[in-house]
Amino acid sequence: MTTPIISILSVGNELLDGRVVDTNSSWIGYELRRRGLSLTKITTCCDTIDATVESLKFLLSEADVVIVSGGLGPTADDLTRDSVAQLLGVELKLHQPSLDKLEKWLIGRGRALTETNRRQAYIPAGSELIENPVGSAPGFIATYQEKLICTLPGVPSELKHLFLNSVMPRIQQSFLQKDSAKEVGFRVFGLPEAEVGLRIESCKLPAEITVCYRVIFPEIEVLFRGESSLVDSALSSAQSVLGSHLVSTDPDLALEALIVKQLTEKGDSLAVAESCTGGMLGEILTSVPGASQVFLGGFLTYQNELKANLLGVPSTLIEKHGAVSEEVACAMAEGARKKTSATYALSITGVAGPDGGTTDKPVGLFWTALAHPGGVKAIRTNFPSSRDRIRRYACYVALDMLRKF
Ligand code: ATP
Ligand code: MG
Repeated sequence: MTTPIISILSVGNELLDGRVVDTNSSWIGYELRRRGLSLTKITTCCDTIDATVESLKFLLSEADVVIVSGGLGPTADDLTRDSVAQLLGVELKLHQPSLDKLEKWLIGRGRALTETNRRQAYIPAGSELIENPVGSAPGFIATYQEKLICTLPGVPSELKHLFLNSVMPRIQQSFLQKDSAKEVGFRVFGLPEAEVGLRIESCKLPAEITVCYRVIFPEIEVLFRGESSLVDSALSSAQSVLGSHLVSTDPDLALEALIVKQLTEKGDSLAVAESCTGGMLGEILTSVPGASQVFLGGFLTYQNELKANLLGVPSTLIEKHGAVSEEVACAMAEGARKKTSATYALSITGVAGPDGGTTDKPVGLFWTALAHPGGVKAIRTNFPSSRDRIRRYACYVALDMLRKF
């Protein structure tokens, strides 16, 4: 398997003068990385043939693949196809099926085919057309000294569609042994990124495996890419060193989505009681489509009086142990479960800072509890960090208690 050098050329004055931010490049960079590939350079140039040809030559001096974004529209400033034709030293050639399709597409929108529109049906002679089912301008793939120039429309929705359906398969076909190459990803929770890295390094994975890390705080996404059998054994090594910190073997499945999925499958329900997170746990859960199937709601009991009045936490308990304590966390979770008749209830109480920490109860200390049909249990976590990170982390610790249960 060879790893191709891939670069992007984003064409457009609007990208240079700040009217449009080049999200196409970052999106492509991210999609490549998910597949164990990466971008070497991103270049942006203005809407002229000279600038486009010069930039292409610059990138093609090292790259195997240059992806070009933009400048395929019908207007006079859309010069990408002319530029590529000039670089290749070929003419633009009419692609009749595209012209027919374009005419139909325009008629469907109550418009007639104009001379400017016709330009969109021309591609450099010898290039391979990429059909565009989601817009008017087709893309094309040209070959230059055995390198690929993949030219895509700048409209983000069109670029994404064509990239995923045509360019990515083409890169895989040309540079990667598609059948034997494989990617697996998983999410990890409860370990710092450096520790995840150390544990994975300790597996001594073969050098042919590309490993990528991404923090989606507080989870860490890990991707392995390489030859199928190597990737499978890498995954089982990772599983053994990460243990229960490995949350899900679907990198797109966040902890909250996993919880909603599992509760749905089991027909169980969940309620929450939150103090220092101020509703964040409820917000995280309700961000998952389909949460209404399992999430009943929650109690936002920031002040002690509300913990007592809404959840029935005995005031004496709060006086004796303090609001941030195992006893109060358990009483909050039990109270929420009782009031809602949910199968499970999670609670969070802690010191989010930046003020209010003591030696006994420093900033970053929180208790999370899980009330379940067989009882209640709580865990203590100390995560000194910024207010927002402490609160977000606490939500995931609570969710993780339920996952492990
Ligand atoms: P069109 O048919 O719309 O002219 P095109 O291929 O010529 O398509 P551009 O004219 O370069 O593409 O861009 C079309 C629209 O897509 C622009 O208005 C801009 O908002 C958006 N766009 C272009 N390039 C990018 C980019 N790199 N990142 C994000 N958005 C972009
Ligand atoms: Mg344009």
